[in-house]
Order: sequence, then C-alpha cells, then structure tokens
Amino acid sequence: MPETTAGGGATPHAAPSPLAPAWLTLPADLNALEPKMWAHDAERGPDGQLAVGGLTVAELKARFGTPLFVLSEPDFRARARAFKDAFDSAFADICGGVDVYYAGKSFLCSSVAAWVAQEGLRLDTASGGELAVAAKAGLPGELIGLHGNNKSDSEIARALDMGVGRIIVDSLAELERVARIAADRGTDTPGAGAGGGEAGTEAPRAKVMLRLTPGVHAHTHEFIATAHEDQKFGLSMAPGTASAGFEGEHGGTAASAAEEAVAAAVDHDSIELLGVHCHIGSQIFEPEGFELAAVKLLEFIAQMRSAYGAGLPELDLGGGYGIAYLPGDAPRPPGEIAEALAGVVRATCGRLGIAPPRISIEPGRAIVGSTTFTLYEAGTVKDVVVDLPGGSADSGGAAAETGATAVRRYVSVDGGMSDNARPVLYDADYSVTLAGRASDAPAQLSRVVGKHCESGDIVVRDAYLPDDVGAGDLLAVPGTGAYCWALSSNYNYLARPGVVAVSGGTARWIVRGETEEDLLSRDMGV
Ligand SMILES: *Cc1c(COP(=O)(O)O)cnc(C)c1O
Repeated sequence: MPETTAGGGATPHAAPSPLAPAWLTLPADLNALEPKMWAHDAERGPDGQLAVGGLTVAELKARFGTPLFVLSEPDFRARARAFKDAFDSAFADICGGVDVYYAGKSFLCSSVAAWVAQEGLRLDTASGGELAVAAKAGLPGELIGLHGNNKSDSEIARALDMGVGRIIVDSLAELERVARIAADRGTDTPGAGAGGGEAGTEAPRAKVMLRLTPGVHAHTHEFIATAHEDQKFGLSMAPGTASAGFEGEHGGTAASAAEEAVAAAVDHDSIELLGVHCHIGSQIFEPEGFELAAVKLLEFIAQMRSAYGAGLPELDLGGGYGIAYLPGDAPRPPGEIAEALAGVVRATCGRLGIAPPRISIEPGRAIVGSTTFTLYEAGTVKDVVVDLPGGSADSGGAAAETGATAVRRYVSVDGGMSDNARPVLYDADYSVTLAGRASDAPAQLSRVVGKHCESGDIVVRDAYLPDDVGAGDLLAVPGTGAYCWALSSNYNYLARPGVVAVSGGTARWIVRGETEEDLLSRDMGV
C-alpha cells in the first residue's frame, strides 16, 4: 500500500469552496495518496515527490517528457492474477475454474498482451487491429476471443486463420457469414479433400459464442431490467424477437432472436457452438446485475439444451467491474464478486438440474485502470470569478444571482481531451495530486483543464490542489489506465503521449510517444 503521506504534513485549514460539488470533501492532507486509486507501488517519497516502483516523477519527466502515461507493470500483473485467482477459487468446485479474458479495448499493446498470457489470462479483441497486436505479441490463437457488432469478412477470416478460441457472434446475419466463411475455408484449404475425400471435411469448425442481451443493464449505482434493450449489441432474449417464420421450441410467435440463433448454429456443420455471452455495462460496483444476468442466461442454456440438444458448455458473463476514480468510490474486491456469482451459478444450476457451464469473464478497466496515472506539467493558472447561484443549494439550481461570487481556479496542463476523452464523453470525474513536490499551502478548489481549443476540454472537473501550484509543477491524475490512451486523439495536432511501464526500479516505453514527424507522416504534402 502507498504511504498515505510523507514530507508535507497536514493541510492547513481552509474553508470548502461554495463551487465544490457535494461529493467533494476538503481533504485532511492534500499530499496524501488514496491507496485504492493508485498502483500498489506508488508512494510519496521522503522528498515529497510522487514515485512509482522507486522512480520519481522528476526522473520520469526528464527521461520521457510529459504528458506521459505511467503504468506499473507489477501492479498490472497483480491485478490480472487477482481476478484469475479469485474466480478460479470461487468456481473450482462448480466448473473447475474460470477463463478470464482481459478486455484489450481498455488498453492494449503487445507487452500487455504478453503479460496477460503470462499471468494465465486470455485476451478479448474487437477488431483486426487488436488481432494484429495479439499476433505481434505471439499469443496463441486459442487464447483470443473476437468481439464486435460489425465484423468484416476479412476480420472473421483473419480470426479463423489465427485459430481464435472464440468468435463472439453478435447477430443472426453474422452467424451466417461466419458459417459461410468457415465452410469456404474448408473447400479453399489446399489439401482439403485430397485423396478423394470430400472437399471441406477437414476445415476446423469456427468456435462461436452468441452474444445475448438479457435485458439487464447495469449503471454504476443501479441496474435496470427491461425486456427489450435499445442498443446495437447482441441478440435479444425477449419473446417475439425472432425472424418472421421462425417458430422455435414452443411454436407460434413467441421465439426470441437468441433461440433462433441457437437453432441456426447447431444446424451448421462449420460452426461449433460453445455457448452464450452477455456484457451488461461498465464501472459496476455491486454484483446484483451480474447475478441477474447469470440466472437469465443459465435458464436459457437449460431450455436450449433440452430443445435443441445444444451442448452450450460455456457461459461468458462479460466485464464491467468498477474501479475507484474518487475517494468515495467503493469497488468490491474481485473475491467478493466471484463468491457472490459462484453462489448464484451453483444455486441456479442446482434448481434447473443442469451441469454448470464453464464460466468466463472479461474484465478490462478493473485490471488496468488503477495501474496507471497520467503525468502532466502545469502551465497557465487562471483565477476566474464566478457568480454564485441564488437560493439554497437545494433550490433546484435556480440561477438567480445574489451578487455573491466565488473564484474558480483553472490550472492548465500540457495535454487534455486528446489523452483523456472520458470527462468529455461520459462526464467522468477524476482526481489529481501535486506530484513533483509536497506542499503545505492551503487547499484551493481547482479545475484541471487541457490545452485544446474547446471549453469542454476538462481533465479534472473539481479537485482541491495546494494554493501554490504554478507553471512547471508536475501533476498526476490517477486511474487513467483504461480508456484513456485507447481513446486518445491528435486533436489540435497534439502528439499522443506514450506509455511507460515501470518495474523493479526501471522504466521503458511500451508504446512510445508520438513525435512531430509521426504527426506529419501521413500528410501527403502540397
Ligand atoms: C468493454 C467490454 C468489456 C470490458 O469492460 P470493462 O468495463 O473494461 O471491464 C468486456 N466485454 C465486452 C463485450 C466489452 O464490450
């Protein structure tokens, strides 16, 4: 665990800002690091500097520059193992363990793909590009899953060439395309049918999971259950969603698209139907949504086994496990979620009288999110006078002016929405700490903003920083491992930051930062 404090001492008393949101409390010590938001080997050293794996941010800045993603490799490996171990042990007596697929879309490069495999996990991809990274890392195909609601024929063919362990099929039309491409490969394969045998019989079947929408959609603090999901992903489990003409197990018009896909898959010689999949959302703290989805999918498996003789030996419950972005966030340890889910799977399979399927999960954020912080250098600091809304805080936000004002401090950094799009995309909140030194200055409500030509270019909407933060100070934003580098852009022709992995007192690029040359490399000139 990181040191909670060193060097700085407690923050002098300062009044909370009237501009602060209700959830933001004035920290007792601005120099303290909240352990759950940081890599386990991040700490504030005796000199007051933030360090990770023994390397100070000043050293990292000197070697690699800013902005910079700083990832703790031992922390990544530990979180990956923690998921694998927790789920393996909770499900040991149910299905002999769990296959954990790291969701590559959260952050992927070949080093990360290799670590994932070394720690006993597998890899989820969702495009030809992500498959290319997996191939570059030398991952065996059987450890790879391919997702996507609009896979191209060439992505499907590439996945089959790589011998992927599973293609997670998203629609009936895609099922037919996978079946056709797999069958064609059989007849196209040189040597297939040689010696007078029938062409195509030697082609390996495409291993397929069906992505279902169970009508359970989880948000961070709640989940909603609906029959019909209004989203682009998956095959509906709701009655009446099958194609016209498909009658299903019970006849009539009550069949679901999910049932129709199972019936079609078992009919295809070129398809090996492994099971069903669901993914109910992201940044979820409580297990209830996963439990509800598991029950619905197990009931479906039981029905399909008896109606179609489909084996459906596997059930994938997706990802979405939440992390702490703010001190008040309280994600559950993987072991707690694993135990809760195992209890539900055990009980439901018992009630239905079915053999439990092999379970898999797909965590992304919960493995990589807290391993990484973004290191920025502060530049312009601007105090802006803001009118305070009139009335009490609970008067519905009526903006009648009282004449009262408050100061909001804008601290600009050398990156922004190009390296962290989540505040703009999702209104995501982050925290920030002064990283290059400790400070005894009083707290000042601050907004950390980027350098882009966009007033919404906010990195940290509300945080208390020491009052003496100024140009040249290093700031660190924790929890940026997932969906930050992955969503980065070149807006305003900023070079995308690289990612440095720190391990055992050494640091190395795992993805180097872009240069101006990179930025101009695709410009075809005048
Ligand atoms: C995004 C995604 C995940 C990973 O989600 P996290 O919130 O990062 O755990 C897993 N499975 C599927 C199908 C996804 O789309």
